[in-house]
Amino acid sequence: MMQIFMPLNFLGFVYREMKGSMANIEAMFALLRQRPSINDLTAAPALQLHEGCIEIENLSFQYHSDRPILQNISFNVAAKQKVAIVGSSGAGKSTLLKLLFRFYDASSGRILIDGQDIKYVSQASLRGALGIVPQDTVLFNMSILENIRYGRIDASDDDIYEAIRMAHLSDFIARLPKGVDTLVGERGLKLSGGEKQRVAIARALLKKSPIMIFDEATSSLDSASERLILEAIRDIAREHTMLVIAHRLSTIVDADHILVLDQGQIIEQGNHESLLALQGQYAHLWQMQQRERSAVQTPAE
Ligand code: ADP
Ligand code: MG
Repeated sequence: MMQIFMPLNFLGFVYREMKGSMANIEAMFALLRQRPSINDLTAAPALQLHEGCIEIENLSFQYHSDRPILQNISFNVAAKQKVAIVGSSGAGKSTLLKLLFRFYDASSGRILIDGQDIKYVSQASLRGALGIVPQDTVLFNMSILENIRYGRIDASDDDIYEAIRMAHLSDFIARLPKGVDTLVGERGLKLSGGEKQRVAIARALLKKSPIMIFDEATSSLDSASERLILEAIRDIAREHTMLVIAHRLSTIVDADHILVLDQGQIIEQGNHESLLALQGQYAHLWQMQQRERSAVQTPAE
């Protein structure tokens, strides 16, 4: 069972790699099998999570020898801190998450979770231990309850309702014709981008991990959806260590630390105010997004 359900926790990565060509679940599993194999050490112990802190030390990585993708990345996420990574497309954000889940081993440097080098713990324990909200959420032709339960198939109904509440899905579900038993997916209800992302948040919460990782969806959300997601993220941030890949900077203005990644390097870092004062790439991105917002809110006549 574990073997089958495990990959669903990181389908988001795989899905994106297949770009638009994703045909079905079988194709995704085929792709997972094709990955260059990363082997566990003999008798690798399980990752032991405690307070949930992440240390990235001098991490470098390349997919192919001729082109460095991540160069000497170092940062820490202390327990219950919220750290955000922003940067243009192709900067290396998703690659960093792939290394965190050990789809690949770093070329040099290391990643420690609660003091344990992820290279030396079992991959199953690593992937099972981290809560992830992927960029693209895959929904199945099942009820909304079953779709959420996918996060942890042995979750109790109480855990599921708690996750629904934390993900700010309760009102949405209350309005559905059959509540949590409403079918979603191709043959059922079509969820908006924001609703899908909140289903993904509920799924991830079911793992009850002290660490939550968000790879934010790129597509723009209407302001009601955005507000619900922001509220969910703020609630979760109080109790979890959070690493957020952010496209909408509104999601991360309150982050303890923000890293700006560009061509595999950290080019700016600080909190929102200090980065604005720097008037560099972050400030530029912020101004652009503010302009887009006001353009949406006050349509030209
Ligand atoms: P981001 O998430 O910031 O948009 P990615 O981490 O996806 O960036 O990609 C960083 C760089 O690595 C890009 O130039 C991308 O083309 C390249 N890349 C991503 N995945 C692969 C792969 N599987 N093989 C080779 N190059 C890749
Ligand atoms: Mg990406």
